[in-house]
Amino acid sequence: MENSFAQEVKIGDILIGSNHRIAIQSMTNVPVGEIQASVNQCKQLFDAGADLVRLSVPRMPDIDSLREVKKKLVADGYTKPLVADVHFSSQIAEECARIVEKVRINPGNYIDKRANFKELNLSEHEYNLELEKMHDRLLPLIKVCNEYGTAIRIGSNHGSLSDRILSRYGNTAKGMVEAAMEFISIFEAENFHNLVISMKASNVKVMTESCELLNRRMAENGMVYPQHLGVTEAGSGNDARIKSCLGIAYLLNKGIGDTIRVSLTENPVNEITFSKKFISEFGEKKAYPAEPPYPELLDKVNFTPKPQDAETAIAETCIALANNLIGKKITEVKINGNIVGIDNDDFAADIMQAAGLAISKAEFISCPGCGRTNYDLERISEAVKHEFSHLKGLKIATMGCVVNGPGEMADADYGCVGSTKDHVIIYKGQTPVIRDVPQENAVEMLKKVITDNGDWKEK
Ligand code: SF4
Repeated sequence: MENSFAQEVKIGDILIGSNHRIAIQSMTNVPVGEIQASVNQCKQLFDAGADLVRLSVPRMPDIDSLREVKKKLVADGYTKPLVADVHFSSQIAEECARIVEKVRINPGNYIDKRANFKELNLSEHEYNLELEKMHDRLLPLIKVCNEYGTAIRIGSNHGSLSDRILSRYGNTAKGMVEAAMEFISIFEAENFHNLVISMKASNVKVMTESCELLNRRMAENGMVYPQHLGVTEAGSGNDARIKSCLGIAYLLNKGIGDTIRVSLTENPVNEITFSKKFISEFGEKKAYPAEPPYPELLDKVNFTPKPQDAETAIAETCIALANNLIGKKITEVKINGNIVGIDNDDFAADIMQAAGLAISKAEFISCPGCGRTNYDLERISEAVKHEFSHLKGLKIATMGCVVNGPGEMADADYGCVGSTKDHVIIYKGQTPVIRDVPQENAVEMLKKVITDNGDWKEK
């Protein structure tokens, strides 16, 4: 078999998959109910070069707001596709599919209930009944998508698998892939193929492993759909750029990936600016090898960064090193040694940590924020990084909302999660410990919980 590309998928007036160029996207971080603010942010993102923009649609009343946002954008000549991000509600997904060009649904919570992390001992018969129930619940969405030409993204996240999947496969790359494959089978049974699939995790290795496994499973199944790539909850600053770039570059080097979202807890326009810098290296899209195992495409590192701005340097370095790091060929940092051309200790250490190969400081997970965020996530996550970065070995999360935050930060040691307006909840692992904390006291309360649990050290 020859190398090949993913199936072509139409999203509004753009095509992705096949040998079409890699599309870049971002997401608004203001509530869709703030219509003018959402319109303005969509325009900024499109003007910056986004091919698609996603908006979170958490509640039924937000459907009208989404309709209004779309109408205003089109009236002003912005006709590029919008994507509705929907969790928990099939009804919202069905309505959004009449308004925007693509709807993202999450197999972890579209039909199955939110995970309680309880072991379910379903018999084969009971498991199949659940699949049949899922099939029935997806039919109305498929009907609307067929009628309106809407595409669907099936977005599996490491942090939001259902109890049904967790019980059978664990919180693993395989679980993420199988959750998506169950949905794919249902869409295919209804002859619906306008699908994009994503496997996201905050851990670069889990993300890359699940995307590769998905590609293999789809190839075995006879049809490879385009993949949307992203390292979720990557955080902010250089660390986030390195994590995203390593994970995405590794996969694009193997010909996997058709659209990307770099996730930053910053102004979303920065996501587009950085994506453009880094995607320019992949102008000529590679085809994925049809037969596993995929060959290593970058076996040797022979790379000297040119003098340039920091973002471009990060992008070029990560692209050059991605395969070697993710493939674990380099197992220790030797400055000017086996990481050729990197003469900055901090940068080298950051790269090794992002690849999960050497831990030199605390690891921070933070979501980019979206319409569900109810507090100053960017400021608080920066303050958390500043205060706790010396706590080597700890994983600390700062998440925008209590709806998805706790699940998505499942492997963090401590967390600060948005709750009511300008308030957060402090978590120890998966357990909420202090509720109703004003955001101004978030760092202090987080420090108290870390100290109470014996993990605090002076700088
Ligand atoms: S965790 Fe963050 S990005 Fe995810 S839904 Fe909540 S606020 Fe939005």
